[in-house]
Amino acid sequence: MAIKENLLQIKSQLPNHVTLVAVSKTKPVADLMEAYNAGQRVFGENYVQELVEKHEALPKDIQWHFIGHLQSRKVKLIAPFVNLIHGVDSLKLLHEINKEAQKNNRVIDCLLQIFIAEEESKFGLDEKELTEILSSEEFKNLKNIRIIGLMGMATFTENKDQIKKEFQNLKTIFDKVSKQKTENCQLNTISMGMSGDYQIAIECGSTMVRIGSSIFGVR
Ligand SMILES: *Cc1c(COP(=O)(O)O)cnc(C)c1O
Repeated sequence: MAIKENLLQIKSQLPNHVTLVAVSKTKPVADLMEAYNAGQRVFGENYVQELVEKHEALPKDIQWHFIGHLQSRKVKLIAPFVNLIHGVDSLKLLHEINKEAQKNNRVIDCLLQIFIAEEESKFGLDEKELTEILSSEEFKNLKNIRIIGLMGMATFTENKDQIKKEFQNLKTIFDKVSKQKTENCQLNTISMGMSGDYQIAIECGSTMVRIGSSIFGVR
């Protein structure tokens, strides 16, 4: 396992405007430290408890992204320090994040997760639900969150055309909704692309890729 080499190899392929989130879930802090020493500062985790422990153990200039499915009752554990929450898919969760952000005197950046895959099991909003949330008065009153973009996951398949279609769909939705800017909604980020499909995602307009196994090895 050569984390530094993997990381530098991937970075060399990314255009400047694409942010790399190193997805370190289930990996020991020593592995994250290796990536840190190679210059990586943005890390993504899926589990709240693990994120809290790693945040405590590792250097304070790391930007922590939560990329998993967040339960309302656990928001308070990450609210003091999390930099970006990727997978938000309900107004209820936004309320909870807003509440905890307020307690911590912060504005927490979030991405709304859009359902683009064929699989039934994936979380996310459809376009209608997205526009309903963004245009609601209830949403506009949440002053301690800021929606900075959208996140999506393509179907887990070998079919590149299908993956491409799904990412293009997310980009189309993004282009439509990003025109309207309000105080707590300024869409400039499209988080799409993982180890198996990030090249396609970048072709389709991704500005943020979430890469785990190609950096840290299989889980
Ligand atoms: C695990 C995970 C990733 C990274 O997956 P790899 O295939 O290991 O790159 C990206 N996004 C989410 C939401 C994940 O859960």
